[in-house]
Amino acid sequence: MSRVLLNANNQITDPYGNNHSGVDVVKKENQLAPIIAHSSGIVILTQTGQKNNKGSTGTLSYGNFVKIRHDNGYYTLYAHMNEVYVKQGQRVSKGEQIGYMGDSGNAYGAHLHFEVRDQNNNRINPTYYLDNDLPSKENRQILYQAYDNIKKSWLPNVSVGSADYAGNFGNAIGGIYLDSYRMRVHDKVKNLWLPWVINRQDYAGNLGNAIDGLQIEGVTYRVHLTNGPWLPWVNKVDDTANGYAGIYGREIDAIQIK
Ligand SMILES: [Zn+2]
Repeated sequence: MSRVLLNANNQITDPYGNNHSGVDVVKKENQLAPIIAHSSGIVILTQTGQKNNKGSTGTLSYGNFVKIRHDNGYYTLYAHMNEVYVKQGQRVSKGEQIGYMGDSGNAYGAHLHFEVRDQNNNRINPTYYLDNDLPSKENRQILYQAYDNIKKSWLPNVSVGSADYAGNFGNAIGGIYLDSYRMRVHDKVKNLWLPWVINRQDYAGNLGNAIDGLQIEGVTYRVHLTNGPWLPWVNKVDDTANGYAGIYGREIDAIQIK
């Protein structure tokens, strides 16, 4: 059951990623629906009075929207609404109606554009959260896991934000699983970036081939070189030398995410 549409299941019409900052959903069979608060929180921002405005950019592109700050520090945002039922500063409960689906702003047809942002207001992949709770404040159990190319096996799960790391020093990593975040790895053997992956739908890597670069959106991360040191923490993703973790040509044997 959807956490953002009233009494409905989600039908995804446009996935997150590839310059899409959220996930687009409608009710099954392309039906419209009232939009509900994903979780309890405070409405920190609304925009109202907007009509369809194809080609608009920035905040206007969202049309009528609501942004909520939740009790764990995360944010959700609901865009393109036809009507907004709540006001800035208002506290809302999980499942409370906050608006109705529409096509205001830069929309080519009525749908809900849904975003999730972490405590730093960085966008993260919202797909998993369409049907699931946000991480709890005390225990952000977002897990990651590395594949040991020497042992030819997946190593134990590690929690994002813990002091642990994923990997065995000395054994190159060939794959990474990660909950909730979008990432990709650079394959040392093929000497190229592999496709972005999300939400354990797939792992990043070619098992058996060493990884020599890593990019993860929305978190701070670092890698350890085989027979070398930990490299500096990285907190962004771009094409510059600081926009990924790793050194091309040098195998990675551990990763850490905070
Ligand atoms: Zn969208």
